[in-house]
Amino acid sequence: MFDACIVGSGPGGVSAALGLRGRRVCMLDAGLLPPPRPNLESNVFDLRQSTPDLTSDLLGDDLSGLAHIFRTPVSLKLNSPGTSFILELADRITPVVSDSFHAAISLAQGGLANGWGAGVYRFHQRDLGALPVTTAQLAPFYDAISAHMGVCGAEDDLLSDFGTEPQLQPPVRLSANMARLYARYQSRRAFFHRHHARIGRARLCERALGVDRDECVEPAIIRADAVEKSLRQLDAGNFSLSERRG
Ligand SMILES: Cc1cc2nc3c(=O)[nH]c(=O)nc-3n(C[C@H](O)[C@H](O)[C@H](O)COP(=O)(O)OP(=O)(O)OC[C@H]3O[C@@H](n4cnc5c(N)ncnc54)[C@H](O)[C@@H]3O)c2cc1C
Repeated sequence: MFDACIVGSGPGGVSAALGLRGRRVCMLDAGLLPPPRPNLESNVFDLRQSTPDLTSDLLGDDLSGLAHIFRTPVSLKLNSPGTSFILELADRITPVVSDSFHAAISLAQGGLANGWGAGVYRFHQRDLGALPVTTAQLAPFYDAISAHMGVCGAEDDLLSDFGTEPQLQPPVRLSANMARLYARYQSRRAFFHRHHARIGRARLCERALGVDRDECVEPAIIRADAVEKSLRQLDAGNFSLSERRG
């Protein structure tokens, strides 16, 4: 018997599981899994040195990664052979029809977080609009989840958008191009501000970076298997992920 059953292993589900630490938790998920991963653990420049033709891995033998390139309502990165499982079957099994928005629905283990960019931002009061919840009410929950996953970034020119973060860790090292752009911005800040343009560091989830921050130039994307492993470690014996196929 379980104390709680969570349906869905996306960020919402794993956050709920974290809050239920110590109880017997069953997690159910539709559970689509990624295809076997090709060895693409580097940037495209380096990969091109060892693998001259990346078409099959990045776009697919049938070039399906280029499908709907001019009218896709969701990120193109979800089109590639390694990521298309994230939205697979959802249009057929759980369709959402609307004239005013496109719903991206995932039936994959780990949910849409299989494709996320590791950006972690608290809702601003203006985002919440007329919803019956305030940022002050959300703050203790944000604080708890931030302490668990670690947030890095900087209190810079985007502070008014991103707000303060109690235990903000230093930002990741920038790639050479980004460092050049940022230095140029800082030397001409007055000009940019006159034109209502501000540049700052992203707030990123440290747990998702997965490697030593000082070594990390481009953050990796968090993977469902890493989330599941982390939950198992946190709550050995009490965390159970159930899957049933067919
Ligand atoms: C390309 C991309 C980039 C993104 N980048 C960021 C970012 O940088 N920062 C950020 O904060 N957010 C980002 N997001 C958004 C973020 O990924 C989502 O907001 C988040 O994953 C939502 O979490 P969730 O748990 O509510 O739902 P989901 O992640 O969608 O998880 C839902 C889970 O429920 C399961 N499920 C659904 N229906 C059933 C069913 N009937 N039975 C059993 N299981 C079911 C699914 O399999 C899935 O595991 C990005 C999204 C995309 C697509």
